[in-house]
Amino acid sequence: MDSPTSSDALPASANPTDPLVQQVGAGLFKLGLALRTHAWKESTPRGLTPTQVQVLALLYGSAIPLRVSAVADGMAVTLPTASDAVKALVTKGLVTKTRAADDGRAMALALTDAGRDEARRAEGGPEFVAAVVEALTPDEQAAFVRSLVKMVRTLQERGDIAPARTCVTCRFFRPWVHGGDTDRPHHCAFVDAPFGDRSLRLDCPEHERTGAEAAAQQWSRFIGM
Ligand code: SF4
Repeated sequence: MDSPTSSDALPASANPTDPLVQQVGAGLFKLGLALRTHAWKESTPRGLTPTQVQVLALLYGSAIPLRVSAVADGMAVTLPTASDAVKALVTKGLVTKTRAADDGRAMALALTDAGRDEARRAEGGPEFVAAVVEALTPDEQAAFVRSLVKMVRTLQERGDIAPARTCVTCRFFRPWVHGGDTDRPHHCAFVDAPFGDRSLRLDCPEHERTGAEAAAQQWSRFIGM
């Protein structure tokens, strides 16, 4: 499991003694606790950790065999964390490692039949989250996604999590190009379609990372600078 971040690493503009910052922090902590408790309840009887379940779900959702580095990227965890989880899954007979078709020195991961069955069961996790998110209005959901994108990016910038496959770092993302459309102001060049904050992705399988300079410009446009 990833360790919690320390408050001494907060951005200079954030005051950790601000009551609102404390309230948000306490709320996030409670949410994190609820999600972890649910994940443990679901995975422990099957002898799996939540991280291992996440790896299975990621491999299940991928159209192509993934390398460990892609798994780490996809889960926004460090390479050693992903490697440990993969090693355990291989030992349990849920994942196999074979030589990558495009590079004989690299290993590609695939689910075994048993791994596929476990991954299907793991699909119950998002339903737990969906039930909680449904308590929000559509506008609140859109604002929440936007806030999550900003928070995940801050964690990435500080090096607290590995880069995630978010729209704001994707070469296909065109923020605010449909300014006249308040519901769907952004554009995804991958599917060539407009979309709104509600559809911002935090883990998109089609994501392709853009260069650092372009990503910085994209971010400035996204937050309206
Ligand atoms: S491909 Fe995915 S991550 Fe990239 S802009 Fe489209 S929806 Fe967002």
